Parts: sequence; C-alpha cells; structure tokens
Amino acid sequence: MKISEIFEKNKPVISFEIFPPKQTTSIDSIYSTIDALAPLSPDFISVTYGAGGSTRGNTVQIASVLKNKYNITPLAHLTCVDGTKESMAQILQELADEGVENILALRGDLPEGASLGEFHYANDLVSYIKENGNFDVAAACYPEKHIEALTLDDDITHLKHKIECGTDVLISQLFFDNEAFYKWRDQVRSLGIQTPIVAGIMPITSAKQLERMVTLCGASIPSTIQGLVKAYNHNAQALKEAGIAYATMQIIDLLASGVDGIHLYTMNQADIAKRIMENIRGINYAVKTKRA
Ligand code: FAD
Repeated sequence: MKISEIFEKNKPVISFEIFPPKQTTSIDSIYSTIDALAPLSPDFISVTYGAGGSTRGNTVQIASVLKNKYNITPLAHLTCVDGTKESMAQILQELADEGVENILALRGDLPEGASLGEFHYANDLVSYIKENGNFDVAAACYPEKHIEALTLDDDITHLKHKIECGTDVLISQLFFDNEAFYKWRDQVRSLGIQTPIVAGIMPITSAKQLERMVTLCGASIPSTIQGLVKAYNHNAQALKEAGIAYATMQIIDLLASGVDGIHLYTMNQADIAKRIMENIRGINYAVKTKRA
C-alpha cells in the first residue's frame, strides 16, 4: 500500500521506526523485534538506512520481509550519502522488485572526510525518485529547525521546495515540546502546505540517550524532562517508566490537537512501544482526524 492512501482514512496514523542491526550482529536479531511490534498493528514501519553504523543493504531486505512476511506496509529510508544516479537506480529497482512502494528520502549525515555524491540535498533525491519510479515519497521536517539551518524561516523555505519536488508525507524529527511543534505547524500550514505531517516521538529511556539525541538533533528539553532525569537518573527502571509516561502524555495531547500521525522512534525496543500503544489504545480510536 502507498502511504498517502493510509492518510485518507479518518483516523490518525500510527507508525514505528526500526533500524537494521549493526554490522557485527546478525540480521536475524531484528525479526524478534518485528515479531513483537507486528501485533501492535502499526499503519506502517520505517527502516533506517546507514544510520548509527548499520549496514545499508539490510534496509531493502528488512522492508521486503515487513511486506511479504508480516503484511505490514514498509517505508524504506534512503540517503544521498555516497549515492550516484546509477546506484540509486539499482536500489529503486531492488525495492520495486520486492514490492516496496514507499521511500523516505533523506540527505543523511556525512561521515568525516566523505563527500556527497550526485545528490546534495534531500529535494534532489525526492525529484529523482519521483521521476524514476512509482513510489510514494516521504521526507523529514524539523519543528525546531534543522541543526545546520541558520533560521527556522530558511529551513521552512527549503522544506517548501522539498514538497514542491514531490514529497507526499512529512515525518518530523523527534521533539519533546509540543508547543514548539504546534507553532511550527501553524507556520507551515499558513504557507499553504497541506502535506500530512507525522509527529516524531522518542520515549526517553536514559540520560545518556537524551544527551546524545540533543547533541545530534538540537531538540529543546522542557523543564519537566530535566526534572524527571534529575529525579530518576539513579534508577534506570524508574526513568524508563517516566519516559513512557511523558511520551504517552505528549501523544495524547498531539492526538487531541488533530495531528495527522505519530511516528514512534522505537530504538528497536518493542516492549516500550507496546506499553505506549496500550496507553493510547482507547484514545486513538476516539479521536476523529481534524486536519490541523
Ligand atoms: P535536507 O532536507 O536536504 O536538509 C538539510 C539541510 O540543508 C537543512 O538545514 C536545510 O534547511 C538545508 N537545505 C535543504 N535543501 C536545501 C537547498 N536546496 N539549498 C540549500 N539548503 C538546503 N539519517 C540517516 O543517515 N539514515 C536514516 O535512516 C535517517 N532517518 C531519518 C528519519 C527522520 C524522520 C529524520 C527526521 C531524520 C533522519 N535521518 C537519517 C537524519 C537526516 O539524514 C539528517 O537530519 C540530515 O542532516 C538532514 O537530512 P534531510 O533529509 O532533512 O536534509
């Protein structure tokens, strides 16, 4: 199924992100994660590409297994890094051969010393995929601005261009401050952008993970989260519970605001995704999508 069709239903979309195992681990380890996520009935599952040292080729394989074994709509991430038109054509063909119909087109982050190939920005990749295949294309967006952008306005101008190149769906960077998301969404909508926007949520499970995420993506940390980390950091289980509770509250508030969808960064921790899905089960189906 093409992901844009999923957004035509009258309810918020719930999706998960997983990542392929690192090169040193067998690919089979991801299948126990998918076994545990599948009964939660996500609308789609996205599979990262080359992030955090994972093997690139595995993205296609895992996306294929999601579709052909689990009957779950996959969204395969793809980045510009190292990409030539020839290598992209090959990956598009591999995805099409496996029946994968959706791609999240990203610029990616360059490893030190590497250079971008023939694609410089995600919008180049969006255009290439639209011109060379029959895929729905999602792209990333940044409610608190991409870390390299000089201003939020600049970033939104580039986002608008990325949409004009053919983006069907937007998935946001993780954020902890819903008010920042609402303000940014209002600004985006005021420019006439009607593309569905899925809100990226990552439950905090440790102070270290929080620190890493903030360094990587620059998300602001509301005082409530700072307080939770300070109070429970000495007790891993307590901090995990607080992280699940905070993510649940964020999601309930977003659903009430008429959000188009929630994308849970699962970090391959199916138990946490399960807890959150149990928490919101009754609420998700009570909310009617009112496009915000
Ligand atoms: P772009 O949209 O190209 O934007 C990058 C920067 O350039 C921004 O500052 C933007 O304002 C600016 N810009 C954009 N277009 C132009 C233009 N035409 N001219 C001038 N400036 C421009 N990384 C991975 O390696 N693998 C993954 O699987 C992965 N998955 C992700 C999933 C999500 C939902 C998100 C939010 C991020 C993901 N990332 C992943 C990280 C992503 O690759 C980085 O955030 C990267 O730095 C930017 O990617 P982008 O596609 O948003 O880039």
